[in-house]
Amino acid sequence: MRIVQKYGGTSLGDTGKILAAARRVTRLAQQGAQVIVVVSAQGQTTDELIAAAAAVNPRGAAREMDAYMAAGEQLSAGLMAMAIGSLGFPAVSLTGWQAGLVTDGVHGNARILELRGDRIRRELEQGKIAVVAGFQGVGPGDDITTLGRGGSDTTAVALAAFLKAEVCQIFTDVDGVYDRDPRRYPGATRFGRISYDRMLRLIENGAQVLHDRSVELARDHGITLEVLSAATGAPGTIVGP
Ligand code: ASP
Ligand code: MG
Repeated sequence: MRIVQKYGGTSLGDTGKILAAARRVTRLAQQGAQVIVVVSAQGQTTDELIAAAAAVNPRGAAREMDAYMAAGEQLSAGLMAMAIGSLGFPAVSLTGWQAGLVTDGVHGNARILELRGDRIRRELEQGKIAVVAGFQGVGPGDDITTLGRGGSDTTAVALAAFLKAEVCQIFTDVDGVYDRDPRRYPGATRFGRISYDRMLRLIENGAQVLHDRSVELARDHGITLEVLSAATGAPGTIVGP
């Protein structure tokens, strides 16, 4: 069984949350699953990086913005691999380029084109948990690219497609997909299951729970997603055909 689990920024917001995620993925791996963990930058890191970049140069080159912003996910990946290591399980952190995620050259909004090489498969076969930095890849000329805000979801779905994972779970700070933002509308109702197309319409209308390209990619490759709470791990919303 091959499983991709993605953890968003709020789900990695402090040491306790990182260790809780590490325990969940380690349990799965101990049960014999091959686990690929995709991580976002912690908390508000990406916003802070963007503000810090703007403070030195409000019109910084897109190439350099990508090099700088991608570091947020790289920090999370190293930290998560060490958290898993603290539980006595082998893990390896991989940046987008180490993982082989090749993109086009559109800095700040790159599209994933292929998974090059077999680094992830090799690490999994050696019994390790692969922790992949989300939101990034490598473009033409070996430059670092980023996938657009919220793009770690798309990293997770792309890896699930390329590696033929049976499960792709998106762990977040809400317990599923709602018809309205549950943090603003207490009366919002949660979907047990939602189609790709309905999900895309919700995103068009402002829902931020999933990156739009992750849903398109899931639809195009027939990947079923589950959006669920990192706090409880209780069954969430299935996004599927
Ligand atoms: N850290 C990036 C962002 O804030 C990517 C992501 O979280 O998916 O947009
Ligand atoms: Mg997100």
